[in-house]
Amino acid sequence: MKRVFNFIGGEFRSPCSGKFLEDVNPATGEAIAEIADSDRADVDAAVSAASRAFPSWRRTPAEQRSGLLMRLADLVEENFDELASLESEDCGKPIALARRIDVPRAVRNFRFFATAILHAETKCHPLDDRALNYTLRQPLGVAGLISPWNLPLYLLTWKIAPAVAAGNSCVAKPSELTPLTANRLAELVREAEIPPGVINVVQGRGPSAGRALTSHPGVPLISFTGGTRTGADVMALAGPLFKKVSLELGGKNPNIVFADADLEEAVAGSIPSSFANQGEICLCGSRIFVERAVYAEFLERFLDRTKRLAVGDPQDPATEVGALISGEHLRKVSGYIELAKHEGGEVLCGGGTPADLAERLRGGYFLEPAVVVGLDAGCRVMQEEIFGPVVTVTPFDSPEDAIAAANGTRYGLSASVWTRDLAKAHRVAAAIESGTVWVNTWLLRDLRVPFGGMKDSGVGREGGFESLDFFTEAKNVCINL
Ligand code: NDP
Repeated sequence: MKRVFNFIGGEFRSPCSGKFLEDVNPATGEAIAEIADSDRADVDAAVSAASRAFPSWRRTPAEQRSGLLMRLADLVEENFDELASLESEDCGKPIALARRIDVPRAVRNFRFFATAILHAETKCHPLDDRALNYTLRQPLGVAGLISPWNLPLYLLTWKIAPAVAAGNSCVAKPSELTPLTANRLAELVREAEIPPGVINVVQGRGPSAGRALTSHPGVPLISFTGGTRTGADVMALAGPLFKKVSLELGGKNPNIVFADADLEEAVAGSIPSSFANQGEICLCGSRIFVERAVYAEFLERFLDRTKRLAVGDPQDPATEVGALISGEHLRKVSGYIELAKHEGGEVLCGGGTPADLAERLRGGYFLEPAVVVGLDAGCRVMQEEIFGPVVTVTPFDSPEDAIAAANGTRYGLSASVWTRDLAKAHRVAAAIESGTVWVNTWLLRDLRVPFGGMKDSGVGREGGFESLDFFTEAKNVCINL
């Protein structure tokens, strides 16, 4: 079976403990690789390698750093098909989605930050004729980068690219559930001749490798994407060490459809926003609110489309909904569907195992997309992040009702609003407590805008020049003239 090692100082190394974990294909339930079960000793080795690489990497001219990252982007692009297939196999996601989103976005992440550093500006404030006060932006050292399993390559590169473009070295810890594309990326890092130690990858579990990285005294900044509960642990460990921390956490995002919306577009847009990547995207709109005048019509059309989604083999280009990430996660999501019934909801479709799965997929973690109605806004199913193909649909009577419902959870990551009334769109967007609001669309974003959550969905902003700000420290220099 394939073995996945750590990538430290430009070399692939066995974990110090000699232990390995199983990596499972969610579509079959079968092990496809063994991955390094790293612990503190491996993280120490990676941080040492990154610390040794940092002084010369930070002095490497921006143009050279940019060139190396552009080369890496080219290599990711040249290996597009292999990466898409690996991402789909490791994650259970439809290969069409990996080809449309994950891999192209990884390429864009590297190209965006490789070119952004060539155009970064800092400010200078002349103090009359007495002094020049300017801001110097400098890298901090070894960046600790921790990413989840749902968009493995996309989110890992979203952190690695700005961190190293800005002149830091890094230690990245992908999810133990999806190690394969990070491992392939490490091979490409070597092929691109990025100096050894600038990018290191430590595989393994969160409670061991992840915590060791978060609490390592040689790592001054942590960029974390994952669940809200884990984020609290990261903050608790990093806080007393005064690390710079960015947390991109969970969501329970509202999707609001007003009666004046183009209903066909709203339905078409609500399908991917509910079920893309099996609903395993932090930005998925898991709570749909529909103005009462069009509620019945929306529901009918939405149900019709949901029932027609092709659920099955992730490697089949026609598949629209693949497998959930693990048996444990499938049980969690299915548990919420049962809970919905206990809480007084009605499951109008989905929630079962697809009937026509091929023999080799029978051990996989598949779930038909579920639509639930009749729940109260305060119940657990409408308050807690499920992170699966389950949406609730609820009527509302006025914009104020919709805003109150949208804001009625502890989360504040993103929202979608469907309306043809531009003034209403502006008013509602301003009133919703979330880091991103989409109007008549979903998941569309220029990489230059700030990205992050409000409330329990996160702390800090990444994206574009905000990421370059996060991965550098602003120094204030005042020259007396
Ligand atoms: P987790 O929080 O379980 O894990 C995220 C990463 O942290 C993984 O690499 C994990 O390793 C690691 N980890 C786990 N425990 C610790 C710890 N105590 N200290 C340090 N690292 C740790 O999240 P999931 O992987 O389950 O991802 C799903 C969650 O991520 C959802 O809540 C989703 O909303 C959120 N998310 C947020 C995004 C955003 O931009 N706001 C984007 C994408 C997802 P391991 O897997 O090995 O346990």
